[in-house]
Amino acid sequence: MFHLRFRFTIALNALILMSLSAFPISAQEKITYLHCGKLMDMNSAQVQSEVTIIVKNNLIDKIEKGYKQAPANATTIDLKNKTVMPGFMDMHIHIESESNPNSYLERFTLNEADKAYRAQNFGLKTLKAGFTTVRDLGGTGVNVAYRNAINQGLVAGPRIFTAEKSIATTGGHADPTNGGSRDLFEDPGPDLGVINSPEEGRKAVRQRYKNGADLIKITATGGVLSVAASGLNPQFFEDELEAIIQTAKDYGFHTAAHAHGTEGMKRAVMAGITSIEHGTYMTEEIMELMKEKGTYYVPTISAGQFVGQKAKIAGFYPRVVALKAAAIGPQIQSTFAKAYKAGVKIAFGTDSGVSLHGDNADEFVLMVEAGMPPHEAIKSATVTTAQLLNLSDKVGTITVGKWADIVAVEGDPLQNIAILKNVKFVMKDGEVYKNE
Ligand SMILES: [Zn+2]
Repeated sequence: MFHLRFRFTIALNALILMSLSAFPISAQEKITYLHCGKLMDMNSAQVQSEVTIIVKNNLIDKIEKGYKQAPANATTIDLKNKTVMPGFMDMHIHIESESNPNSYLERFTLNEADKAYRAQNFGLKTLKAGFTTVRDLGGTGVNVAYRNAINQGLVAGPRIFTAEKSIATTGGHADPTNGGSRDLFEDPGPDLGVINSPEEGRKAVRQRYKNGADLIKITATGGVLSVAASGLNPQFFEDELEAIIQTAKDYGFHTAAHAHGTEGMKRAVMAGITSIEHGTYMTEEIMELMKEKGTYYVPTISAGQFVGQKAKIAGFYPRVVALKAAAIGPQIQSTFAKAYKAGVKIAFGTDSGVSLHGDNADEFVLMVEAGMPPHEAIKSATVTTAQLLNLSDKVGTITVGKWADIVAVEGDPLQNIAILKNVKFVMKDGEVYKNE
């Protein structure tokens, strides 16, 4: 007992020393005054005029009426002709890659280091588009290394919560060997996220924990971009879903399910998945179930539009993919419209990586086009996404004590949602990454 307490004291002292070295002395506190012409703090629908946000280190320290004079040791940033909002959050991106006609070849030609450089480039585009927090829903593991490098301050990028590698079944949407020669690939197992039983499901979740994932992603139905015939069929049994979701809970993970087809989607909702991604053929019955269970819907209309358009270009996708893309892609926007009307919780997400990184704000335009009022669309990318990540005490609104993730645009996004595609100012964790 004594020894334990002694060791605990040493650990505690080490922690205190570490935190002291992060912010050596109070004289080196970094203070920034933001003079905001308009402020949408997203705590209510109200738009405030002439407000000063005072940022100390990485936190929002004070919010005051009028333009306050900064002391000599502080920096002032003039956002008087801008509308200021919390940093946007995208719940569905793939930071390691981006669609192009060579995507299928790149699986055989790129090394991890190539993917890492690409990830950094895509991450910077995402951050500069005003997306300060993202959820990465599947890659190879480079996503974990990139997240760590950002958190350690080695490279710039959005705050990332990553699924590491998606979990699929054999031949399923996230089987990384689909379409590859059998001479090149061995049969992948739970280590690579391919499972065929509840036991393997548990192992795949625990492997993700070991590999450094923040959450679990599964591909509950077929998908568009995999080299496989069906984009819709259910790909997990109930007992496999239960094993995965229960194990995920033990490790503090929330869960996301890619789903286009009805049966696989329904099974995932019934098993207690946290979010449904794409949700293309979502029925009214599933919408009711999602409301009952508190399941979030992440629409990714952007990806639907993107693949629908690219399917028309000969050779952009393999034929088996192009057929699915043309049929499934264009459906998502109308599903979103119905789900929003029905009152399903909508968390903003684009599937960037399928569509282009940095174009994330296109989704706002597509949501408003489908009937969501602009303020609601912004809320879905701030307040609702913070709830989904269980981070409402840190992000999602401009509130004293939260992380200083702040963006600004010129003009009024409530009048013209498309101006969100042209973000002029980006601060993440108190650090300015863009100021035009
Ligand atoms: Zn995706």
